[in-house]
Amino acid sequence: MLPDTVYKALENAIGAEYVTREPAMLDSYAWQPAINLEPEAWIPRPEAVVMPQSVEEIQEIVRICNRTGFKYKAFSTGWASWGGPGGPGVVQIDLRRMNRIIEIDEKNMYAVVEPYVSGAQLQSELIKRGLNCHLIGAGPNCAQLATVTSGWGYGWTGLFTGFSGRNPLGVEWVLPDGELLRLGSLGSDNAWFTGDGPGPSLRGIMRGWGGAQGGLGVFTKVAIKIYSWPGEKDNVKTGTGTLMDLKTQVPKTHRLYFLFSPSYEKFGDLAYKIGNAEIGYVHCKAAFGATFNFMAPRASKKILTNPVLYSIMRTFQHGTLFMLCAHTDRELAFQEKVLRQIVDETDSILLCTDKLPFNGMFWWGTHRSIFPCIAGFRPGGDFFTSMGSNETYDNQIYASKLTEQIKRKYIDNGTFFEDLADCTWGGIYEGTSNWGHMEEIVMFDRRDKGNYESRFEYMRETRDLTIEKSLGFGLSSLGFGDYKIYGPMMYNFHHWQSKVKQAFDPNNASDGSFYVPPYDEVIAEETAQGKTKPAA
Ligand SMILES: Cc1cc2nc3c(=O)[nH]c(=O)nc-3n(C[C@H](O)[C@H](O)[C@H](O)COP(=O)(O)OP(=O)(O)OC[C@H]3O[C@@H](n4cnc5c(N)ncnc54)[C@H](O)[C@@H]3O)c2cc1C
Repeated sequence: MLPDTVYKALENAIGAEYVTREPAMLDSYAWQPAINLEPEAWIPRPEAVVMPQSVEEIQEIVRICNRTGFKYKAFSTGWASWGGPGGPGVVQIDLRRMNRIIEIDEKNMYAVVEPYVSGAQLQSELIKRGLNCHLIGAGPNCAQLATVTSGWGYGWTGLFTGFSGRNPLGVEWVLPDGELLRLGSLGSDNAWFTGDGPGPSLRGIMRGWGGAQGGLGVFTKVAIKIYSWPGEKDNVKTGTGTLMDLKTQVPKTHRLYFLFSPSYEKFGDLAYKIGNAEIGYVHCKAAFGATFNFMAPRASKKILTNPVLYSIMRTFQHGTLFMLCAHTDRELAFQEKVLRQIVDETDSILLCTDKLPFNGMFWWGTHRSIFPCIAGFRPGGDFFTSMGSNETYDNQIYASKLTEQIKRKYIDNGTFFEDLADCTWGGIYEGTSNWGHMEEIVMFDRRDKGNYESRFEYMRETRDLTIEKSLGFGLSSLGFGDYKIYGPMMYNFHHWQSKVKQAFDPNNASDGSFYVPPYDEVIAEETAQGKTKPAA
């Protein structure tokens, strides 16, 4: 329980109306079932919740926590368990009052946003200007700032709009002790246009691949790199109706395809050729079983467990969702000609969705990144993900092939839903075939408490597979304390990471439960366990 003195200090810092320690309010923050493998849907309850509106207020909250020995944890929209406390003694900083798009610089192609600006808000403003932003697969409801500053970042348009870690430019950052740091050009002359100088560049320390997940202070503003929205911009009709019967008018230079290849190898060749040809706006593995589950979850349970229908569906396993978005008719014709040639060369099949009744709905849902979460949640109420390192696409394809066998066991024993053991999701990045992403999603019924231990077993088994086959550090490897396994195998990276934590956060005030503990704690634990002490 937060003492009155600390509570009062928080009230004085941001106003009594924006601080609470009411048990019912705190519980509403502690209810976090999404992407939570535990049978319980609760995470540790915060000591209090604060809702600041300015960077100065955040600095004051952070200083109070540093002074009084409490920790703090910030989130932007706070969708999943990693936005909340990892243990007791934590003040939750809810940033929903910081919700402004500060600037859209069309010429230099960046947008400056506060934490509670969602992907949907920013994208809607950008499309009107012939521009677009990277939306992650989690969907348009997520905060643009959180994804670029604090964690991961794969999304459907990654072929064109990159990976979130590549998109932050200038950053305004309240460090764990309350000091303000401005990264990139913002740090030298108050302009937002670059993240790596002139001015300090700490992108690797700030977020690396997986992000510090709120364990290294609070980000208050960020300039995000934006991209072009090819074709019509003034009259984009995104439609009316609920998602499944949405009627839209697809811009005439946008075209959506399903491509089907006969094998993992040909599927890979297709991706590499697309990357080498530098065509396309969306490239992603199409998980056919999951698509059926999302459109008709009850029917799928029957269809996918019927052996004949199952084997027919399997022939569509190596699918690619692909979209061309061209600036002109001529460019579209050229890109489509190249695509058709690649499809021929890889013995694949091309299905253009132009004439299908769901074309408009699928087009907008793809741009808006709406489907992945519907597909994950609809069949049983919850899902989680595994594998998926940032590696070559060939590596990812090999990983999918191996994981399919592991996943099959857990579908057969009733832990996960039938999805052809092939709910792999991800594509190549940044208009090249150099690197890509492919994660293995699993769906389950979270009310089924009997099977929860085997969800963890699956995670361990896929994690061990990444080690055994050198598949890279992936989403199976993000469990609490997994740095203890990977660190010693990877040049003791966790020692460097925990040195960063300790240097930036001398009082260990920024809740690092989803990041790494300070160096002294890591070393003390390793020494107690008799592990080799590293050179100082
Ligand atoms: C259902 C689901 C699907 C997902 N799919 C994808 C996906 O396809 N691709 C992908 O990249 N990620 C995915 N994620 C993870 C997602 O990237 C992050 O949860 C994310 O950034 C979501 O945005 P948010 O607004 O909910 O962030 P939040 O939940 O608010 O925050 C995410 C993390 O960042 C920290 N954080 C947020 N804002 C700040 C801030 N201002 N200062 C310091 N720390 C902060 C939080 O503490 C938390 O650890 C998924 C998550 C869920 C729940």
